[in-house]
Amino acid sequence: MSDPVLELVGVSRHYREGDARLDILVEVDFSLVPGQTVALIAPSGAGKSTLLHIAGLLERPDAGEVKINNAPTSTMSDDARTKLRRNSIGFVYQFHHLLPEFTALENVALPQTINGLDRAEARRRAKDLLDYLRLGPRALHRPGELSGGEQQRVAIARAVANAPALLLADEPTGNLDPRTAEHVFATLMTLARASGLAALVATHNLELANQMDRRVTLRDGRIVEMD
Ligand code: ADP
Repeated sequence: MSDPVLELVGVSRHYREGDARLDILVEVDFSLVPGQTVALIAPSGAGKSTLLHIAGLLERPDAGEVKINNAPTSTMSDDARTKLRRNSIGFVYQFHHLLPEFTALENVALPQTINGLDRAEARRRAKDLLDYLRLGPRALHRPGELSGGEQQRVAIARAVANAPALLLADEPTGNLDPRTAEHVFATLMTLARASGLAALVATHNLELANQMDRRVTLRDGRIVEMD
C-alpha cells in the first residue's frame, strides 16, 4: 500500500471554557492514502472542524504529530507550514468563499499565481480544470451569476488548482439541495478517482458518505471506523 498522504499520530486538542477543560481530540490516530476518500460523520460540536483545521495545518495540536507525505510538521516554522499547505492541501467549506469581484476563471487561477505560476499559464490551467468539471461555459461569470451548485464546484476547482495531494472539506454540500449536493459530490469523487487526490470530507449526508471508501466518526475525541 502507498505511504499515507496524511497521518495523525496521537493528536490531542483541548479548549478551556472557564474552569472546565473540553477535550475535543484525544490521542487521535488516523491515516489516509493517495486516492482514498473518507467521510467524517459526527454530530455538531464533536470536533470535525477542529480535526480538519489541524490536519490542514491551520491550527497546531496540543500534542501529537501531523505528517503530510511523511513529513512531520510539528517542528516546522509557520512559514514552512504555510508553504506546505499551499502546495499540498486544498480546502472546501460549506460556503464557497469565492471572491465576488472576480470571475470563476480568475478565482481558480488565483491560488496558482500566488504560488508563483505565470498569470497566462495559471489562466490556461484554470480553464482546463473548469472545462474538465464541465464549467467551461461559466468561466467568465462572477460568483453572483452562478447557481449554488456551480459556485461550490468552482470552489472545488479552486481547491485543487495547485494539484494538492490532500483535499479537506467541511460539509461541502451542507448548504445545497439533495440533487445539487449529489452533483457537487460527484465532482469531488471524479477528481479523487482521476488524480489520486485523497479526501477527508466532513458530512451529515449518509447517502453521499456511503459512496466513499471509508466512513469514520469521532467518539469521545477519538476517531472510530464505522464499518
Ligand atoms: P464540529 O465541527 O464537529 O461541529 P468543532 O470542531 O467546531 O465541532 O468544535 C468542537 C467543540 O469545540 C465545540 O464544543 C466547540 O464549541 C468547541 N470549540 C471550538 N473552537 C473553540 C475555541 N476556539 N475555544 C473554545 N471552544 C472551542
